[in-house]
Amino acid sequence: MSNSWQNDRDVLPSHETLITMLRALPGAFFFIDDTETIVYANASAQAITGATLEELRGTPFWRGAPQLVSSVLYHAMLQARQIQTLTEVEYCSPVTQTWLHVYLSPTVGGLTLQFHEVKAPAQRKREDEFRTLVDAIPQFVWIAGPDGYMTYNNQRLIDYLAMTLEQVEGDGWMVRVHPDDHQRVRQAWQTAIQTGTPYEVEHRLQDGTSGAYHWFLVRGMPQRNAEGMILHWVGTCTNIDKQKRTEQQFKESRENFRVLAETVPQLVWTMWPNGRLDYTNQRYRDVTQANLHLEGDDLWRQFIHPEDIERTLMLRHQVLKNGDIYENKYRIRDGRTGEYRWYLARALPVRDEVGQIAKWFGTGTDIDDQKRIEEALRQSQEQASILMNSSIIGINIIEGEQIVDANDTFLRMTGYTREDLHAGNINLIRMTPPEYRALTQQVHQQLTVQHYITPYEKEYVCKDGSRLPVLVGAVLLQHPPHQAIAFVLDNSARKELEQRKDAFISMASHELKTPLTALKMQAQLARKRLERQSPHEAATALSRVEGSIQQLERLIGELLDVSKIQAGRLEYLQEAVDLDMLLHEVADTMQQISTTHTIVVRGATLCSLEGDKDRLGQVFINLISNAIKYSPDAKTVEIDLSASPEMATIRIRDHGQGIPQELHDKIFERFYRVSGANQKAIPGLGMGLYIVAEIVRHHGGNITVESEVGKGSTFSVTLPLERSLKPGSTSVPETLG
Ligand code: ADP
Repeated sequence: MSNSWQNDRDVLPSHETLITMLRALPGAFFFIDDTETIVYANASAQAITGATLEELRGTPFWRGAPQLVSSVLYHAMLQARQIQTLTEVEYCSPVTQTWLHVYLSPTVGGLTLQFHEVKAPAQRKREDEFRTLVDAIPQFVWIAGPDGYMTYNNQRLIDYLAMTLEQVEGDGWMVRVHPDDHQRVRQAWQTAIQTGTPYEVEHRLQDGTSGAYHWFLVRGMPQRNAEGMILHWVGTCTNIDKQKRTEQQFKESRENFRVLAETVPQLVWTMWPNGRLDYTNQRYRDVTQANLHLEGDDLWRQFIHPEDIERTLMLRHQVLKNGDIYENKYRIRDGRTGEYRWYLARALPVRDEVGQIAKWFGTGTDIDDQKRIEEALRQSQEQASILMNSSIIGINIIEGEQIVDANDTFLRMTGYTREDLHAGNINLIRMTPPEYRALTQQVHQQLTVQHYITPYEKEYVCKDGSRLPVLVGAVLLQHPPHQAIAFVLDNSARKELEQRKDAFISMASHELKTPLTALKMQAQLARKRLERQSPHEAATALSRVEGSIQQLERLIGELLDVSKIQAGRLEYLQEAVDLDMLLHEVADTMQQISTTHTIVVRGATLCSLEGDKDRLGQVFINLISNAIKYSPDAKTVEIDLSASPEMATIRIRDHGQGIPQELHDKIFERFYRVSGANQKAIPGLGMGLYIVAEIVRHHGGNITVESEVGKGSTFSVTLPLERSLKPGSTSVPETLG
């Protein structure tokens, strides 16, 4: 050590230099001798003690610097002298209450003491803890002086900026602020410093490593002492990049929503969870012309159809409570025209990240036209289904040759079942008899060309092989594949009537020709007899002429009656008719004509009624003559008369060929005659019972038949005894042709 001292001696500074250095030392410096008398005190030491060097020199240390007196220092001085090495000590001056750090250095003939004012250990500890803490937290932390001079940055901020502490210091950190934000940041910082108000700015700060800018929320709070003086600013920088992006996205999506909402043809609205309207698009406002300042129920009442309000409010309350999707159809009054139109309203709840409803988004779509179309469609479907279910028209759908669907009427007509239909067993060609196939094919070609066919007559072969005359029309549904809908009418009744007419005409010509031929013959005979002057024989021939004329008269009379009935112009007298008397008269007349049968009249009605005697007579003549005609092998025809207080009943019974049960109604139809070998030989035109039934019906009565084939028939006529004539009847005597 002495060696080094020796060596150092050569380079030691001069005495003056040393004195200058000592004087400039920042801390208080004393040199005391072994008796602890002050030899030297530098400028700081003089400032602390408040005395000049001259005053201090030669003064005992403890008296010259009472501010520094401490037992700790005293012991340290003893120790330093004793061990003759540099000693350090820290203590709090009982006089000034400041903490002092002292270097005690023993030297030749004395001791140097160098004092530094330091922070209290507790405060230093707190600061250390604070530093550890700020380095640990994920945010950037900074401290600046009262003048805004940056003095401290935590490690994280230093790392992010990729600058040294010295580079960041002062306003060095500004180089990392985005150029566009520079001005704003500087201004805000200056304002905060000048006014002492908290500093808060959002700006971009560059990541010194990657060069990328990120958004930060920078906050600074002034820290004040007890007097309110700002000691320094403590601040943080929080990365708000994500938040900014979300904000931006939200802004964009909000803008997109607005553009969309204004572009779509719907009414658009958003609503808060409490039911308060938030937003409406222009169309909404145009259509409703509503006062949007009203709230809740009152708002809707302005434009929703009164009949739809209750349902709407109920639904609305329900979904606001449950958060279900809202869907409703109601009529909205267009404020511009005053007309109501149907709208479909739909609303969806939009929830936040914790599932709470944040808003409702709703639309209203004008479905008025759709509603009308739906209604028309519903009606036409109803009509179609009425048609489809009609028991009159058979309907089927044909694809190619196959019948793929059909209504019940069609199936009933043809004898097929729905199972046959589903199994694909109904084939149009198979159902068409060979003689109709060419026509059917021709008609289907016509269908393809003109998309419909006018109804044409054909026959179907039914499932049981029987033939069914039908009238078929069709409309093309699509082609190809060929699909058509066909309408089928059972044509058998018409066909039968046609056959009956043909049969009637041939029978009528025969019936008329027979008495005419007889007339001609008898007239020739009478002429010859008269030429030969044989008056008796001529008279016989002439009476036969009369018979034939009567027969012709009756036939023509019946024909006239039928045509009058058809035209609704058959006229009736209204007079008192004694039924018993009438029946006996008719029976007597018939008995005179009949040579084969005995006519027996039993019982009596003992009453009379209001009606047309001749027409009622015509009824019984007809029934008795039929009874005789259709029982050629029988001997009697019986007439039973009876009555109740309300009605008289006349039964005419024969023991003839009888009538099959299923034809009991048909025989009363116009021109209907039972076909069969027995029948052919018996003349007749099928008009009698038709006229009879009409006359009975006109008198408010009824006619029925009971019969068994081979055993005979009983026709029963019932006539009400008190009856008023129907309007349109007349009491003018009728001139029969
Ligand atoms: P028609 O001129 O053929 O006798 P009607 O109208 O009097 O005409 O009778 C219709 C058909 O009813 C007759 O063709 C016959 O087949 C049947 N008919 C009527 N009366 C009798 C009867 N008493 N017994 C059997 N068949 C009868």
